[in-house]
Amino acid sequence: MINETLPIKVNKTTESRINQIDWDNLPFGREFSDHMLVMNYSDGKWQTPEIKKFESLKLHPATSAIHYGQSIFEGMKATRADNGDVLLFRPDMNAKRFAESCERMCMPAISDELFVDLVRNLVEVDNEWVPKKKGYSLYIRPFMFATDEFIGIKPSDNYSFIIFTCPVGVYYTKPVNVKIEEFYTRASRGGVGMAKTAGNYAASLYPAKKGQEEGFDQLIWTDGIEHKYIEESGTMNVVFEIDGKLISPAEDTDTILKGITKRSVVEVANHFNIPFEERKITVEEVIAALREGRLTDAFGAGTAATIAPIAKIGFRGELVEIPTNSPRTFSTKIKNYLDDLQAGKEKDIFNWLVKV
Ligand SMILES: *Cc1c(COP(=O)(O)O)cnc(C)c1O
Repeated sequence: MINETLPIKVNKTTESRINQIDWDNLPFGREFSDHMLVMNYSDGKWQTPEIKKFESLKLHPATSAIHYGQSIFEGMKATRADNGDVLLFRPDMNAKRFAESCERMCMPAISDELFVDLVRNLVEVDNEWVPKKKGYSLYIRPFMFATDEFIGIKPSDNYSFIIFTCPVGVYYTKPVNVKIEEFYTRASRGGVGMAKTAGNYAASLYPAKKGQEEGFDQLIWTDGIEHKYIEESGTMNVVFEIDGKLISPAEDTDTILKGITKRSVVEVANHFNIPFEERKITVEEVIAALREGRLTDAFGAGTAATIAPIAKIGFRGELVEIPTNSPRTFSTKIKNYLDDLQAGKEKDIFNWLVKV
């Protein structure tokens, strides 16, 4: 439904591409829905948002974001319930995190209500693009970048906020091998690790590429000071099962991106009385538990994959496998619960779903 209180221009395309999509074979992030939403910031305020045909942007070569990286994004999903409804999962949390990223990067805020309204309006217009196949979803990418046509270094006066969406299939298909990274750093104290800002991902590519050359799918990041504590796994939060308890790095640091999936995993675990500890975790503790067979599960938590199981963990040239017969009972139970919730099969007792 279109929010009447929000002036929003809607110019629908008459040339839908929806019939050109191979709905049984959707690669992640390569197919784009018919429309996008654009809202520009100028003269100290957000201008009227417009939903229009998805198309390329035309940018001045001096566009500030390209040079100095004032650029942030969010990642969220809409799913199709079995009864046909389209559901957003905790969009208020994305709105809040986006506002935090804005603040850290000196970018103008968008109220939580407006953020969620804009997402809803765009998804409503491209409702038919929300896949019907089990496990598939519409990935939503809101982002903002600095648009001053000026190569001086200062917070830009002009910005674009854009949302586009991609119908996507299942993200990871098989368990991944990860390497504990003890040299490169994803985020340092006082830095921008807690913001979903473009440069964090650019900075991670080189270490990730080196890891891939050694045969790893991803890195487990450790703290930037001593490389002693576990922080995240690739672009996901990380959870281990050790001695029958789930544990995950405490987020009382500005070096960890506070994931909505991980927060939901914690809350679902509490609901099922699955023991869950959030605290500092040393590399040493993980490796000892792994060698002694007490580490029975490890997984990444993030919107794209929800839960991505880890198969093997590499540490200083040694590769240790999580027992392949490990039942991974807790993570499987939580994953199924979250999947069912987003498919409208579970009662929404947490009030996490927002119907579009
Ligand atoms: C987006 C992201 C996550 C996961 O957050 P979700 O809200 O669960 O998708 C974790 N770590 C990093 C570095 C991220 O960018």
